[in-house]
Amino acid sequence: MTKPLIGIDLGGTKIEIAALAPDDGRFLLRERVATPQGGYDEVLSAMGDLVARAEATLGVQGLPVGVGIPGCISPATGVVKGANTTLLNGRALDRDLARLLHRPVRIENDANCLSVSEAVDGAGRGAHVVFAVILGTGVGAGIAIDGRAWAGAHGIAGEWGHNPAPRLPEDRGVPTPHCWCGRGMCNETVLSGPGFAADHLRHGGAALDARAIVQAARAGDAGAQASLARYAERLAGALAQVINLLDPEVIVLGGGLSNINELFDTVPRHWPRHVFSDVIATPLHQAQHGDSSGVRGAAWLWRVPTV
Ligand SMILES: [Zn+2]
Repeated sequence: MTKPLIGIDLGGTKIEIAALAPDDGRFLLRERVATPQGGYDEVLSAMGDLVARAEATLGVQGLPVGVGIPGCISPATGVVKGANTTLLNGRALDRDLARLLHRPVRIENDANCLSVSEAVDGAGRGAHVVFAVILGTGVGAGIAIDGRAWAGAHGIAGEWGHNPAPRLPEDRGVPTPHCWCGRGMCNETVLSGPGFAADHLRHGGAALDARAIVQAARAGDAGAQASLARYAERLAGALAQVINLLDPEVIVLGGGLSNINELFDTVPRHWPRHVFSDVIATPLHQAQHGDSSGVRGAAWLWRVPTV
């Protein structure tokens, strides 16, 4: 067997490491630790310790390491930008980690890691172009081409969460949400979990979280059903823009809101009104690897050893 591949999913609350068998993607080990809150150097050394422990367990040294992070390494400055784990911003994480581990590391945005994971051996297996979306506390997306992340000229390819969200007739007279990024009604302000809850509230619903709105809709609550219908229609319109621009072979939904099964039927039914094509056969799938997609995608960053 060729060498195992190590992936690290670096988040604000936890750091997960996993080693994958390169031939069939089997987990050889995985471990999670809480993200140290003391500062950047502590986070770096926690990652170094995880790699050292993993290699000791596997009995192999110098394995390839890929890392998924919130935000990205800016091609312009060489340092992390846009991470909600803000202690990473402004840091040369790739160079610092390479120095610590004595090897090159590959670092990608976490949504890009989702797209790679699903493209290599998940719901987008076999597709040349996969668009993968995280619908969770925030909204992110990534593009994988032939199993590799397409980061873009500025490192922002797939930052669809901050495109303007489709407006619906029902929005007339309803206050416009504002995004933390400084823009107006971004996709994230209505398609994230908190965004969905806020939309329900703005349209006269009770203060419920996303899960409770879906439960109420399934139990027959008309207001919650209307909110879920708006959510599906907005998601459909936002994805239709992606289809018109990129025309991916598969769209994959991950994150907590991808557990809303109804979306996989209702969203594609809206597409003919928005997509400029006589036939729209784009499959819309739930991410196959769930919470493991980040760490799996990070490991698969080294599936192609040379760029
Ligand atoms: Zn925004």
